[in-house]
Amino acid sequence: MSTRVVVLGAGFGGLELTTILSDAFGDGINIMLIDKSDTFVFGFSKLDVMFGRRMPADVRHRYSDIVKPGVRFLQSTVRSIDPPARCVVTDDGKFEADVLVVALGADLDPAATPGLVEGGNEFYTVAGAFALRDVLPGFERGPAIIGVTGKSFKCPPAPSEAALLLHDYLTARGRREATEISVVMPFGTPIPPSPETSQAILAAFAERGIRFVKDSLVKALHPGRKLAVLSDGTEMPFELFLGVPVHRVPQVVVESGLAADAYGWVPVNKKTLETNFPGVYAVGDVNGVGTPKAGVFAEGAARVVAAAIIAQLRGGPSPEAYKGAGSCYVEFGHDQVGRVDVDFLSGPKPTGIFQVPSEALVAEKADFGSSRLQRWFGRPSRA
Ligand SMILES: Cc1cc2nc3c(=O)[nH]c(=O)nc-3n(C[C@H](O)[C@H](O)[C@H](O)COP(=O)(O)OP(=O)(O)OC[C@H]3O[C@@H](n4cnc5c(N)ncnc54)[C@H](O)[C@@H]3O)c2cc1C
Repeated sequence: MSTRVVVLGAGFGGLELTTILSDAFGDGINIMLIDKSDTFVFGFSKLDVMFGRRMPADVRHRYSDIVKPGVRFLQSTVRSIDPPARCVVTDDGKFEADVLVVALGADLDPAATPGLVEGGNEFYTVAGAFALRDVLPGFERGPAIIGVTGKSFKCPPAPSEAALLLHDYLTARGRREATEISVVMPFGTPIPPSPETSQAILAAFAERGIRFVKDSLVKALHPGRKLAVLSDGTEMPFELFLGVPVHRVPQVVVESGLAADAYGWVPVNKKTLETNFPGVYAVGDVNGVGTPKAGVFAEGAARVVAAAIIAQLRGGPSPEAYKGAGSCYVEFGHDQVGRVDVDFLSGPKPTGIFQVPSEALVAEKADFGSSRLQRWFGRPSRA
């Protein structure tokens, strides 16, 4: 019987892992890829949709399109995980694995911030970002806050990108003079591992009159009074609030014992991404390996786990250790994209090399998306 690999979550991590294993073994492996959703959406497409640059239907990529040897996609919700037994229960049955990969990402919890659901908006879930497409045209005047509500959040550049794109959006509508934009973030600079990237973002903010409120979180909103309350008690008025919700470990992962609690990301061996349970790996946002939560890191982790599975089945040498390196594209507005090449684990401290914003990087980012779609879904398409 061929090796049974069960992959929980078809995001960046799950899709990359599945693709590599299918390419390596074809029908000689038995991969079950499970996700509760019927479509994949790139994180950066959420910004495109909310600012009206893309239509929602164009950025949803159907899992039913995946036709790969050795792979079965199952749309179902994972209800329980038994790591010692490498067994999972879903709404559509129970599955046992020889290798179990948990790639369920980070769950978003807007309700954890008092007042956010009632009086604000969030742009991190697909539903929240897509709904903003109809909210933003109604924003005419007053202060807008892009506010982070928890210390650990996906794609650290995204709040800054949202501010720069909001500036362009309001300018195009002739409403920028009547509005103010502030970004509230729990860091001292926008991208701490890359001073050059942070300087470029802060310079772009200064040029456009965007205020950066550092080392702060938004702890609550007062919907009636339209005030955001920061971690130090400061109150900031808003007309438009665009929040980054609290991120937490999916409850099913906490209940499995893989994570200690809702904010304790799954501990893994930093080199192999294996959890404390043999044959059970955690890749991407769900783990606590120490890299930022971003698709490129989930993808890099998936490659290391895929190489370990290939080495195990073919008897080759152990793969190289996970390096925690990847390139993130940063929307700078004015139709330009920058890039930061970050490396978290290979040196004594994280580094980040900055590529200045350009139109060439706009094309490179588009290629990043379409090449993934080609590889994961087997068809050329715009991300
Ligand atoms: C606005 C925004 C912009 C971003 N921009 C970028 C960017 O430019 N570059 C970049 O690299 N990253 C970016 N990101 C971050 C990126 O989207 C995530 O870090 C990445 O998707 C993480 O991959 P993952 O595989 O760990 O998890 P995910 O991609 O989140 O996948 C997890 C999957 O698990 C499924 N799932 C969860 N629970 C269950 C369950 N109980 N049962 C079944 N299925 C379940 C979910 O449906 C989901 O499909 C951005 C994020 C946002 C919000």
